[in-house]
Amino acid sequence: MRAALVRPAEPVPRHDVPLRPAAIAMAWLGVGLPLEELAVPGVALGPHDALVAVEMSTICGSDVHTVQGRRHAPAPLVLGHESVGRIIALGDEGARGVDGAELQVGDRVVWSVTVSCGRCDRCAAGLTQKCRALAKYGHARIEPRWELTGGFAGHVHLRAGTAIVRVPEALPAAALAPVGCATATAWAAVSRGAVLRGRVLSDPAATAPAPVRALAGERVVVMGAGLVGLTAAVIAAEEGGAVIVSDPDPSRRAFAARFGLTAVAPEDVAEEGADLVLEASGHAVRAALDAVDVGGAVVLVGSVFPADPVPMDAERIVRGLVTVSGVHNYTAAELKAAAGFMAGRGRTYPFADAVGAVLPLAAADEALRRAAGAESPLRVGLTPR
Ligand SMILES: [Zn+2]
Ligand SMILES: [Zn+2]
Repeated sequence: MRAALVRPAEPVPRHDVPLRPAAIAMAWLGVGLPLEELAVPGVALGPHDALVAVEMSTICGSDVHTVQGRRHAPAPLVLGHESVGRIIALGDEGARGVDGAELQVGDRVVWSVTVSCGRCDRCAAGLTQKCRALAKYGHARIEPRWELTGGFAGHVHLRAGTAIVRVPEALPAAALAPVGCATATAWAAVSRGAVLRGRVLSDPAATAPAPVRALAGERVVVMGAGLVGLTAAVIAAEEGGAVIVSDPDPSRRAFAARFGLTAVAPEDVAEEGADLVLEASGHAVRAALDAVDVGGAVVLVGSVFPADPVPMDAERIVRGLVTVSGVHNYTAAELKAAAGFMAGRGRTYPFADAVGAVLPLAAADEALRRAAGAESPLRVGLTPR
């Protein structure tokens, strides 16, 4: 008896892109080990993939957490999920930006930290950052056919399902690299807070404030003047909120003041004095719950590392009609809005100065040490050139 012929699954067509010289990626092998230079002589792009030459990447707090072993991470991986770069190759069927337009070789772009399938129940519900088949740049183990997975590299292989946003040539790379994490997360947090207060943020790319600003009349407290908190405070102030940003670090408060923000020490934040509290540090959750007034909202966005549980006065939340909400990462629309903000109203602020040092890729270990140091700037940059 003859066996039935079984046709093997149709292989996904790949577009081979040889790289001469080879792309260099700095692979992280585990806690306490130096990064290892990995040479990738070519990539195989799937139908809607894109290959980007990195212009600059910035080191986010979660990269530091990975290196310090404070979060679980598979090895080997390529760190880095805050980058700006230029498309140098596209898969056979091309790729589209978040605005729906075909991307072209030569486009300057930023991209999402997440790769989402777009088909699962969570993607269908708009929770693309929690896709059932999620992959994340800077966090995923290197695998066959996907080696260039992070921004600590000369190139990044963007897979189909990545939100890609074209960005203007005129903006400095140091202002754009953080868009893919800090800026987009800040936008998502403020946007959530506005919704919880019954408001909607205005067009991020508008160069002039809207006639009626979304957070007009709102007392807003932002806990933490790291890059997420600082950016969220600027967005909230641009939307008309009366914003106070709190941070224990005097140098961070001084930097926030350069953005026109009122920056105070944590002990100077009034209890029950805010309509909207954004907790962007992960260290002030209890204080955030104490700071919110009756009917207000607390958005938690900084708690992205393991920490002790926070005692919660449920009665105060109930009697105070308080809403507590969590925000993690962001959607494609929020990334687009964040990039639009940087290119629009955000360009008048000294965001590029948040990158206090830019080191060559080969010095990535030193860059990580600086980013983890007590006196670290908000961001340390890496550039392959
Ligand atoms: Zn999905
Ligand atoms: Zn990040």
